[in-house]
Formats: sequence, C-alpha cells, structure tokens
Amino acid sequence: MENILDYDFNGLKSKLESEGLESYRAIQIFDWIYQKHIISFAAMTNISKQLRESLSLKFSIDLPELVKKSKSLDGTVKFLWKYKDGNTVESVILRYPDRISGCISSQVGCPLNCAFCATGMSGYIRNLTSGEIIGQILGMEIEENEKINNIVFMGMGEPMLNYDEVMRAIRVITDPKAFKISQRRVSVSTAGIVDGIIKMANEPLDLVLSISLHAPTDEKRSSIMPINKKYNLKSLIESVKTYQRIKNRRVTFEYILFDHFNDTIEDAKNLVKLLEDIKCNVNLIRYNDTGSGFLKSTDQRASEFEKFLKENGIEAVIRAEKGADIDAACGQLRRRTL
Ligand code: SAH
Repeated sequence: MENILDYDFNGLKSKLESEGLESYRAIQIFDWIYQKHIISFAAMTNISKQLRESLSLKFSIDLPELVKKSKSLDGTVKFLWKYKDGNTVESVILRYPDRISGCISSQVGCPLNCAFCATGMSGYIRNLTSGEIIGQILGMEIEENEKINNIVFMGMGEPMLNYDEVMRAIRVITDPKAFKISQRRVSVSTAGIVDGIIKMANEPLDLVLSISLHAPTDEKRSSIMPINKKYNLKSLIESVKTYQRIKNRRVTFEYILFDHFNDTIEDAKNLVKLLEDIKCNVNLIRYNDTGSGFLKSTDQRASEFEKFLKENGIEAVIRAEKGADIDAACGQLRRRTL
C-alpha cells in the first residue's frame, strides 16, 4: 500500500484522478492530515463513508514510530523515529523567541564522511522518501501539540543527495494547503553538492541556502570534508554566486571553529577573501566533540575570529548552542539502536 504522505498536492490530485476519484478530495485530505492532524481516513467526516473505505484500501497514512523523546533544559526536544523497515533517524525541535524550528533528517546515515560529524561515522543506509521526511514534522507537531514554523534540513544526511524527495517534501512543507510554512523559513543545508545547488537555484521556490563551509582553503577543507575533492571551493563558490544571482537572497555559511585548525586570523583573512562579492551571513558554530580528535576553539579565539570577520564587512555570529545536554546539538545526531 502506498503512503499518502509521499504525495505532494499535484501528485495526489493526479493520482486520485487516475483512480477515477474527484481531484478536489485532495484538498480535503490535505486539510485533515496537515492542518487538523487527523491521521486516519475513518475520521475524515466530510468524506463519504464509502470513499473513506476505498481510500483506506489504496493508501496508508504512515507516521514513523516514536522510539524515544529527550528534553533539554533549554526547551530543545530530540526525537528518535523508527520507520517500517526498522531504520531510525533523529529530528529536533528548537525554540527561539521568534520561531519554533524543526531540524529534520533527509537520509538514514550519510555517505559524506565529514571528519567531525557523528552521523557520518555511523555510515550510510538509504535515502528517506518525502513522506518519511514529512512524517518527522507531523510526528513532532502531534507529539508537542505545537505548530512548527521554520524548517532546517540540518539533521542527518545530505539533502542534496536525495534531491527529488527533499524537494517534494518542501513542496508539502510550504504548501498553504498543508504545513503552510513560508519558503523563506525553510533552509537547505549542504556540505557542498554543487549540482544540487544549481538545481535548487532553478526551482520555483525561494528557500534559504546554507553551506557547510568549515574551512577557507581547499587543502584544509579536503582534509576534513572529502566531498571537497569532488567539488572544490572554486566550483562551490561559483555555484553559490549563481544561486544568489538568480534568487537575489542572502546565503548562509556554517563554519565550525576548531582550535588552531581553522580559527587563526590567517584563516579569517582567507575566509574574508573567499566570501568577497557574496551577500551572506556566517554562522560560527561551536564544535561539539564527537571524538574526532579536533578540539573546540576557546571562547576568546572564537570571539576574535568573529570580530575580525565583522571588522571586514562580514555579518558573522557565534551561534548559540542548543540541546547539547541531550546530544541534540549540531553534528551529534546519529542512529542509535536501542
Ligand atoms: N549534510 C548537510 C546537512 C547537515 S547540517 C550539511 O552538511 O550541511 C548539520 C550541520 O552541523 C552541518 O553544518 C555540519 O557540518 C555541522 N556539524 C557536523 N558535525 C558537527 C559537530 N561535531 N559540531 C558542530 N557542528 C557539526
């Protein structure tokens, strides 16, 4: 049976039509599932009993099973979900004064093997379907009885390596008939898959592009992010400029500060040079230790790095850490079989 969450609105409309059903039913079904959080056809009372029965013979509404929920003192909540095949992923709710953000996973594990990231250390299993991605958001909203209004693809996996399913999920996330989240409140974070960045530049969607940069030279970047050997900094920066030219939006760069590896003033200078001509925000991330051998920059070195960037015209902030007490912070998500 097909998971109805795997359909975006147009997909469901055509599917219903091909089954000889009225396509406007898609509006009702989307309303029940995504706005009312009703996850059983039987309870969709404005649809005839007969039709409800035939829908439930054709489709399932598959939410992942909640295996574990951990709450941080700062309000962050981490969820461990299990899919039908037994694979698990994590997602996180982060609370800010102006938004409730869902940090979601796009793959089970990740093939990119960044030296510092816990997800990569657990290997790569498979891509998630769009319904499995969306199931994390629905599951979190239902569990917390709360509306999420910001989404970041910063959980497990490399979203650009699961491009079509991620874009289908984003169509549902931003659909006014479904999750109704503004396109500007959806960030896609990538380790630098240039082909994906160019494709996303040509989508009819106004999403936030976030690049996990983490080093300002090819030599350093390749030593911690193997993907840099395939897509070097020059090609990455070119693709970001293309994105910016088409969308005319600020992009975000993530930069983890590693003590004496990439946090010297020399590194800051190289970074300023690399990012000249790009309208961007740089998020300086504190390293969460994953046993990689790197050390976290001291507060002082981090502030000096930030100050140098700012003095040289770059909008930079040291990102507040959230959820570290429950291993929900950046880079700490991993598959855990219980
Ligand atoms: N694969 C995508 C999506 C993951 S986003 C990407 O790389 O962008 C998660 C962010 O946390 C990325 O910027 C990642 O590089 C960063 N990260 C990974 N491990 C980390 C760690 N141990 N400490 C801090 N940030 C980390």
